[in-house]
Amino acid sequence: MAEQLIISISGMRGIVGENLTASVAAEYGCAFGTFLKETSAGENEKLSVCLGRDSRPSGEMLKSAVTEGLCKVGVGVIDLGLVTTPGAGIMVRELGCSGGVVVTASHNPAQYNGIKLLLGNGIAPPGDATEQIKQYFFGKRFTLADSANCGQVTSNNQTDATHIAKVLAIVDKEAISARKFTVVLDSVNGAGGRVTKKLLAKLGCVVSAVNDEPTGLFAHAPEPTAENLTGLCEVVKNKGAEIGFGQDPDADRLAIVDEAGTYIGEEYTLALAAKYIFSKWHGHLGRVFTGWKPVPQAATNLSTSRMLDDIAEKAGGQVVRTAVGEANVAAAMLEHNCIIGGEGSGGVIDLRVSPIRDSLVGIALVLQLMAETGKTISRLVSEIGGYYMSKDKFAAEQAEAQRILKSAKKRFADAKLDTTDGCRFDFDDGWLHLRVSNTEPVMRIIVEAKDRGTAQKYIDAVLNIRKEIPG
Ligand code: MG
Repeated sequence: MAEQLIISISGMRGIVGENLTASVAAEYGCAFGTFLKETSAGENEKLSVCLGRDSRPSGEMLKSAVTEGLCKVGVGVIDLGLVTTPGAGIMVRELGCSGGVVVTASHNPAQYNGIKLLLGNGIAPPGDATEQIKQYFFGKRFTLADSANCGQVTSNNQTDATHIAKVLAIVDKEAISARKFTVVLDSVNGAGGRVTKKLLAKLGCVVSAVNDEPTGLFAHAPEPTAENLTGLCEVVKNKGAEIGFGQDPDADRLAIVDEAGTYIGEEYTLALAAKYIFSKWHGHLGRVFTGWKPVPQAATNLSTSRMLDDIAEKAGGQVVRTAVGEANVAAAMLEHNCIIGGEGSGGVIDLRVSPIRDSLVGIALVLQLMAETGKTISRLVSEIGGYYMSKDKFAAEQAEAQRILKSAKKRFADAKLDTTDGCRFDFDDGWLHLRVSNTEPVMRIIVEAKDRGTAQKYIDAVLNIRKEIPG
């Protein structure tokens, strides 16, 4: 049986030629355009949307289809071509568009593609807006435009240049360039290669790029995890490079490999970026962000490592925790004027660039940290310290998942509990986050503790609860 087409806060995702076809994409474009028209301020306002795609071979076909859908309902399209997701988000704001669309399935395997939606603020639509767009899509409730009011298509090729300029503005280009860092970049033949190579060249890096052709023919499984980046680790080691960077196909996630060729884990990407940003808080950043002196804040989701809290605490700062989902983190960052934020899966957000996870921001901030401290990446990682973290999932239908959460609340009654997104239990020696997936009938179990044995104690407790509950 063909897999179900998934529509969530992250947009639409499906298998090309099975459940994600040109006609589905066109109708999703109609639904998004209709939503934008109904929620826009002026009735006669001419709306426009930035539209880009990652490098997947089906990208152009789906981009054309979404364009058709948007134009049909009277929304103009600015075609950005082949761009990264953060690049598209930046252009939405830069060009004053009402929204944005990126044809990408992010880190999903090659047979997938997807359609990510962005509102005019550059952030994915929140839950209620997603629900509204879904209703328009499934109910085919489209307000078609007449001939005179059909959307027009223009193109814009300034995404990479705009993106690079914004990232360079948050670091000291001369200080980084002076170090002539040797860098290996693996862009998995996604959208990130071209723009990231240009950024690294501007930062004076000596770059060995692998899988940097935007063919969409992924040289390895595209999620930037340890098992998928063994090739990058080898090249870093063989070249004697100082650091390796691995991106996902739409370049919003970043994984780092140290100078010994060791994959350090995506949780460290945000931690390292935060280490730099918080180290600057009492200097110029404090003035840049607010002009007065509140407690510096970071935001991240409930499943992200405590390393961020440790870093913030040392600088007298705080961490705001949100439900999982980039849009939730970005909204919290805007609300609290956070100096840094993102997600543990290698997603760094710096509001000075945009409210979107951005691997180029991660790269620039980590190189800046290395340049200023003169330390190797492995040394910086060891200074942050670390925890043992386990991320797993098991099959659980909604009703069963709810029963597990209820039992867990009783079992861990002494822990500090946060129920924003499933249940997160904080203990003195670690934390446990149980959440029900938005996209599949599974329960995710994320545990972090000072050591493996302690983490296993919490995992075993959850597995026992599951056993005791009738399925
Ligand atoms: Mg991605």
